[in-house]
Amino acid sequence: MENVIEHASRVARDNDIKLIKTISLKVGVMSGVSVDALKFAFESHQAAGEMTDANLKIDVIPAEGKCRECGEVFEVTENWPECRACGSMNIAVTGGNGFFLTDIEGE
Ligand SMILES: [Zn+2]
Repeated sequence: MENVIEHASRVARDNDIKLIKTISLKVGVMSGVSVDALKFAFESHQAAGEMTDANLKIDVIPAEGKCRECGEVFEVTENWPECRACGSMNIAVTGGNGFFLTDIEGE
């Protein structure tokens, strides 16, 4: 994974933003990207004196599972979901993938 914080600062430069106020990310719950790791990376940049006025906003994109046995539809929050209605693990998962830099605000 590219360091998203460095990516954000490059995007800011390209857009002539000198002071980053907010970095907005969307992280799919199934993307394998750790929100904690992102926050940690951001905080270590701040500790180094960069983007000290910036906020990191992370939206988690939920996934949806549909049971192939009984048709139940439910929100998926883990990698190996079980149907909440019948306990089947035969689940089709949609959504919740991806990892996006959605917005950078600043001046
Ligand atoms: Zn089911």
